Amino acid sequence: QPQLSQALQRIQPSPTTAMTDRATAMREAGRDIISLSVGEPDLPTPPHVIAAMQQALRDGQTRYTPVGGTSAMKRAAALHFARDLNIAATPANTTISAGGKQAIFHALCATIDPGDEVVIPAPWWVSYPEIARFAGATVVPLPTTPASAFRFTAQALEAAITPRTRWLLLNSPGNPTGAVFPADELRAIAEVLDRHPRVLVMSDDIYAPLRYSGGDHATLAALRPDLAANGDKGRVLTISGVSKSHAMTGLRIGFATGPEWLIRAMERLQSHSSGNPCSISQAGAVAAMEGPQDFLADWRQIFRRRRDLVCAAVNAMPGLSTPVPDGAFYCLVDAAPLIGGDMPDDGALALHLLDHGVAVVPASAFGGAHCGLSGFRISFAAGEDTLREALQRIETAVTKL
Ligand code: PLP
Repeated sequence: QPQLSQALQRIQPSPTTAMTDRATAMREAGRDIISLSVGEPDLPTPPHVIAAMQQALRDGQTRYTPVGGTSAMKRAAALHFARDLNIAATPANTTISAGGKQAIFHALCATIDPGDEVVIPAPWWVSYPEIARFAGATVVPLPTTPASAFRFTAQALEAAITPRTRWLLLNSPGNPTGAVFPADELRAIAEVLDRHPRVLVMSDDIYAPLRYSGGDHATLAALRPDLAANGDKGRVLTISGVSKSHAMTGLRIGFATGPEWLIRAMERLQSHSSGNPCSISQAGAVAAMEGPQDFLADWRQIFRRRRDLVCAAVNAMPGLSTPVPDGAFYCLVDAAPLIGGDMPDDGALALHLLDHGVAVVPASAFGGAHCGLSGFRISFAAGEDTLREALQRIETAVTKL
């Protein structure tokens, strides 16, 4: 066996990618599989984004850029944070990475020492605990349930914090739950954080443009700028990007804004990892942020219809239930009544659904066990006809149990 580092041995490959790869392999072998396991919009990348990238290529923008992104890109990202999230961002406290994922990776690796703890609300996005563990931290799950719409209370957070806590990871709208935190709950969370000055906060708002209830998006850095970017005491890092909102997953551009000490630390690490985000993708992301945003209203309508279709069908099936998510394009289905006997866990249930032609990701991949939750995540980033067919297959599969 080749020897791998202890840091690498602490992490597992992404289970969402594993399920998607499995579905692709089955499809290539001739099976008819509908994949509802991927976390990316099926809608086309806006044409003005494509045009900007073609122009950048023709202009010869094929060289290294500054480590944290071009000044045009930083300005466009700061514009996005100010316009869409109400955060007083400037190019100086904004940085650009190869996807939101890389920004999160660099932020955690730049600040965590062995023995530090990272509080992560569960169910969680698959990469959070893996990155935290890779960086040397111990993961402290903060369980939530469908009954509380997958939101934790300020009291629960207070109880989870210890002198070793280094980060709280917040994700609203959340993957895999679609949970959205309202402003008053974020203010209560901030009051807990006021009592714990060592704790840094990651506010991952990458799905903020995909919210269904209307109104302004509530986020910690906008509600409490004193906590966010307060010189050396600033400690809220907000993550955003173009992957989800502008259907640019493969172009790998993510944004972060926060206190300058942390932004500079992330860029120090980035200078030795990817070097800079892709020059052509940056040109596309500038166009995405500076160009028209009105198509987003149509996209929200499309996703909202799909959400309603999926939730109504799932809630009518025996043994399955889901809260109606307020944002993102996922719903987390509780399938606990179907587990037991021949179906030992939700991993087995996901394989049973795959046998019936639908790929989903089991809740256990998202830390569901910490919440006593067995079930699966459906991504409704697929056309309505595809979703209807998939739902029919799921119904056939569960009625056989
Ligand atoms: N944050 C959350 C909650 C996500 O679900 C994802 C992607 O699945 C990301 C961040 C990273 O997005 P990307 O690196 O593609 O920009």
